[in-house]
Amino acid sequence: MGEAVESLNFIEHIIEEDLKKGYSKEQLRFRFPPEPNGYLHIGHASSICLNFGLGLRYNAPVNLRFDDTNPAKEEQEYVDAIKRDVEWLGFTWDTERYASDYFQQLYDWAVVLINQGKAYVDSQSSEEMASQKGTPTQPGIESPYRNRSVEENMDLFLEMKEGKHKEGSHVLRAKIDMTSSNMLMRDPIMYRVLHKAHHRTNTDWCIYPMYDWTHGESDYIEQVSHSLCTLEFAMHRELYDWFLDQVVESNKLRPKQREFARRNLSHTVVSKRKLLQLVESGVVNGWDDPRMPTISGLRRRGYTPNSIRNFADTIGIAKRENLIDVSLLEFHAREDLNKTAPRVMGVLNPLKVVLTNYEEGKEEWLDIENNPEDESAGTRQIPLSRDIYIEQEDFREEANRKFFRLKIGGEVRLKSGYIIKAESCTKDSEGNIIEVQCTYDPKSKSGSGTEESLRKVKGTLHWVSVKHALEAEVRLYDRLFTHESPDTQKDKDFMDYLNPDSLETITAYVEPGLKDVEVGDRMQFQRMGYFCVDPDSTTEKIVFNKTVGLRDTWAKIESK
Ligand code: ATP
Ligand code: MG
Repeated sequence: MGEAVESLNFIEHIIEEDLKKGYSKEQLRFRFPPEPNGYLHIGHASSICLNFGLGLRYNAPVNLRFDDTNPAKEEQEYVDAIKRDVEWLGFTWDTERYASDYFQQLYDWAVVLINQGKAYVDSQSSEEMASQKGTPTQPGIESPYRNRSVEENMDLFLEMKEGKHKEGSHVLRAKIDMTSSNMLMRDPIMYRVLHKAHHRTNTDWCIYPMYDWTHGESDYIEQVSHSLCTLEFAMHRELYDWFLDQVVESNKLRPKQREFARRNLSHTVVSKRKLLQLVESGVVNGWDDPRMPTISGLRRRGYTPNSIRNFADTIGIAKRENLIDVSLLEFHAREDLNKTAPRVMGVLNPLKVVLTNYEEGKEEWLDIENNPEDESAGTRQIPLSRDIYIEQEDFREEANRKFFRLKIGGEVRLKSGYIIKAESCTKDSEGNIIEVQCTYDPKSKSGSGTEESLRKVKGTLHWVSVKHALEAEVRLYDRLFTHESPDTQKDKDFMDYLNPDSLETITAYVEPGLKDVEVGDRMQFQRMGYFCVDPDSTTEKIVFNKTVGLRDTWAKIESK
């Protein structure tokens, strides 16, 4: 047709088809429908980016709808956390809605169904009902209560609502078809009695609608055009449509349910229920523990909203489930932080170096760039003195020619400072190197323009001045699980695959200018990786989380 070919995902194709078939753009409306029974995780980010992304593409409203029909598991804390996370990801919802806003309307519609003989109160136990359900290849058996009179059903349903019955004594069921090949159509439950206070409706209700009865009708009330959910609801679509058939008026838009594949991330679990188990068992320190795949955990770890959105957009949406390697998420963190994070120097595993020909008591402040990738980021000053720390791994007493770091008789440049040469080292009684003695070349100062300053040496090391450095706590993280797919293994529980070494806490030394950092600040420790200031920081001690290393070292380790 001569139009620019743009790659659309299959959901966008469905919408484009609908637009061709007569939907107007103004009718498009979407929703993101979390149940407030936990914190959002990286899987939800896919659904958020999909729904809000469609909103942006079609300039259509997107509601944030809390699917709050189960007071036993839902809490205001989760509502607040979900709103914070969606906002932090950079999205704006049109209106904030709650399925509980519709409890009265849902009840009124249920009464209509009873009056039409399409719903009945079943007074059997859940075990009895389960035994009549049949199997996918065998039809079910009708309940002995299926043919109760409308009057009796109305009385009982009202009594259920008024709190006259115990939990589990009665349910309201849709009268559909006990022989349907779709088990979900075999008289599904619409309401159950629950004597539990709800975080919004308090004790107004003691009967609560089931997901299937609630979801489509909520979409209809909000006039959502495309109700996108994950594949496990594919079989529910027939029921979604049946429930809509009972209420849709011809002059109103009829919502459409369409399904896409759930996103799974390797070496973790993306299920609120399992994440809650990690929190409650104390394996992690809360929902926002930086090892958690929650949005709040990733934020605390140092991920940017951009990196999460770019990750979700890169993996896109699919019709089949698969496992996305967590290294792809880390790649996006690195890519975004590389552009934005200021560079600083911090030594994680300190080894003391004494510059023996550097005057004792002397100090000088050297100019250093804030971000070598970005000149406009400017420069700052860092102090040098006779005693400095370098990384232990940057020194070897002896090494071959490929080792470009410091060795006895060899030279390296101190980043933004001088060229130094290792002369000797001191060991403790166990043979561990505890100090290196070096000489420095006073004429070789970086940027001084002298011939010596232009002299090329192979290695450049980061360092900090011992007497100026700040002590900081650094938390290093590893995968939370040792298995790439911990929750799909036969005969094993995902908790069996916990990595006992997922957190290592060390003391590091960082340049003194960092004393004024704020919680959430992100930076690159040169040569070491990206780090972020943790809320546990105090005025006495800064706590850093390692977000991710500079390179993907994990792939190499695993293939060994
Ligand atoms: P969980 O098992 O973690 O509780 P859920 O699907 O029950 O997941 P909801 O709060 O009901 O969680 O989900 C809100 C929306 O996010 C739904 O449309 C759901 O399909 C979608 N979603 C949840 N998990 C994923 C995932 N891993 N990948 C893609 N979308 C997801
Ligand atoms: Mg759920």
